[in-house]
Amino acid sequence: MRIIYILSITYLLFACKKEDSVAQIIALPASLNTLKSQHPRLMLTNERVAELKKLQPTDPVLDKYIKAVIASANSIVTRAPLTRTLIGPRLLDVSRELLNRTSHLALAYHFSGDKKYLDAATANMKTVCEFSDWNPSHFLDVAEMSNGVAIGYDWLYPFLSETDRAFIRNGLKTKGLDEYKKIYETAWWAKGDNNWNQVCHGGLIVASLAIAETDPKYADEYIPKAIANLPYSNKFYAPDGAWYEGPGYWAYATEYLSYGMSALQTALGTMKNLETTEGLSKTGFAPMLTTGPTNYIFNFADSGENSKGTTSAAMFFMANTYSNTDISNYLHNYMSATSALAKPFHVVWYRSPSNSTPAVPLDHLLKGELNDLVIMRSSWTDKFATWIAVKSGTNSSPHSHLDLGSFELDAGGVRWAKDLGSDDYNLDGYWTMGVGGKRWSYYRLGSLSHNVPILGNKNQYELAKATFSSTALNVSEPNAVLDLSQAYRDYSSKSTRKISLVNNRKDIVIEDDFNIKSATEVAWGMTTDQSIEILPNGKAILRNATITTKTLEAEIISPAGAKFTIESARKSAPEKLNTGTQRLMVRIANQIGNVKLQIKLSPKG
Ligand SMILES: [Zn+2]
Repeated sequence: MRIIYILSITYLLFACKKEDSVAQIIALPASLNTLKSQHPRLMLTNERVAELKKLQPTDPVLDKYIKAVIASANSIVTRAPLTRTLIGPRLLDVSRELLNRTSHLALAYHFSGDKKYLDAATANMKTVCEFSDWNPSHFLDVAEMSNGVAIGYDWLYPFLSETDRAFIRNGLKTKGLDEYKKIYETAWWAKGDNNWNQVCHGGLIVASLAIAETDPKYADEYIPKAIANLPYSNKFYAPDGAWYEGPGYWAYATEYLSYGMSALQTALGTMKNLETTEGLSKTGFAPMLTTGPTNYIFNFADSGENSKGTTSAAMFFMANTYSNTDISNYLHNYMSATSALAKPFHVVWYRSPSNSTPAVPLDHLLKGELNDLVIMRSSWTDKFATWIAVKSGTNSSPHSHLDLGSFELDAGGVRWAKDLGSDDYNLDGYWTMGVGGKRWSYYRLGSLSHNVPILGNKNQYELAKATFSSTALNVSEPNAVLDLSQAYRDYSSKSTRKISLVNNRKDIVIEDDFNIKSATEVAWGMTTDQSIEILPNGKAILRNATITTKTLEAEIISPAGAKFTIESARKSAPEKLNTGTQRLMVRIANQIGNVKLQIKLSPKG
């Protein structure tokens, strides 16, 4: 490799500046001939700091965000040193806290000049560089720690002593980049099709660029590999920007992709065409669409129960990259409405709010290779708006539940229909998918806890795929039809679910049609945290304990004579208990031939 460096036609010799006086002057390979010589150069630059400082006095939102970062840094300064303590097989919490600390402290130092932040950041970086390792057996831990150390090193480089630089650089190499080197060619995630790809490559890009002038071999070898291999996972943003692993993992994957892309841009002046990834220009909208008016997300695919919308600064990065003010305005408004605290990358990737009127339609079909979503709402501005999200997709995709056709519903400021979300990742067989997989024996992961039809009281077919066979969106009464035939193939020769918004987009009609092959029970279920009262005439009413002026009326339109029942969603340990959650059910025994179940959900008040 050294020979390649020597022979490379383009040499970039670093000027021997005062701060670099001890660093060896080294010829860089052609792949790094545009490397920005000064630090910081990873996402934050001196030019960006100057720009933000100039803007701060006239932009109260930016001023608030910077002050929030400094306030958080004040609490971080006094925290106890990190220790190499694993939770289960993971060091991830420590890696995340290290990034949290270095990014807050380094940014606070740039804006305040107070040496206590510099000292605390340096101490934190040295502490983790003294760990025996960064837990390479669970490689996300190495990726995230490398990212956190690299950002601290780069952002504070001009202010660190040469001794500290060398010490931290050595830690970043021996515990980070050399670990990448050991496993990269055989690492499953290198060409992986999920968030690990973006996280591990994001960390690799940032870490290798942090030390590229002293140790160019890492960036020279691995940045081209990262650029070549990111598409194995990035392809799932196509065509509409939805992320198949659900909104929770959207933030994780997209943040690390943003770190990598932003670092490439500021350090090398190019994002290496990652910005042309299909769907990426729209992906900043994904959190906006998949977060309901209650601020709870559409939490499919192992997203946590009661997860709120993300405030990921990746939305600012995407808004800047694609000059899209609707995305950045959404994030500003959401942070304001939820009193969310700004974090360092809200400042680094800051985009000023504007008064422009958003041009975002009410309904969306987000197509994806593994999950298609339809999301419909009555308003973008009314916090009591009706919002319904429904998913199709592939029951065998990573993090999937057996939930084809499942929906979640907000109206009147209440989440009426919910997904219980993930269970404990350490449950025996949690990752055993496929036909008869143990994963499906857990209540939260199988069909019986989801807002889907249930035939024969059994799970959907574990390998089923479903698609939206038709949609009529952004019309006065929008609807979407799913073909669920594969999901219920053991019982029904054809199965569809149609979800419509009616009555000025306020009410919802869910129509399930089957062609049952031999007599079986047909059921309809909806999981809710709200209280349920069964009324006569096939009706029920749901009430929220806090928002007492709003209710949801459920009515069985078809078949005539069917009645709602209430079932418990309670389970026992080691599964999650689902305390306070119940199921609104319809069960109709011995159905055969054409069967139609039609339920109307009407928000009242
Ligand atoms: Zn689920």
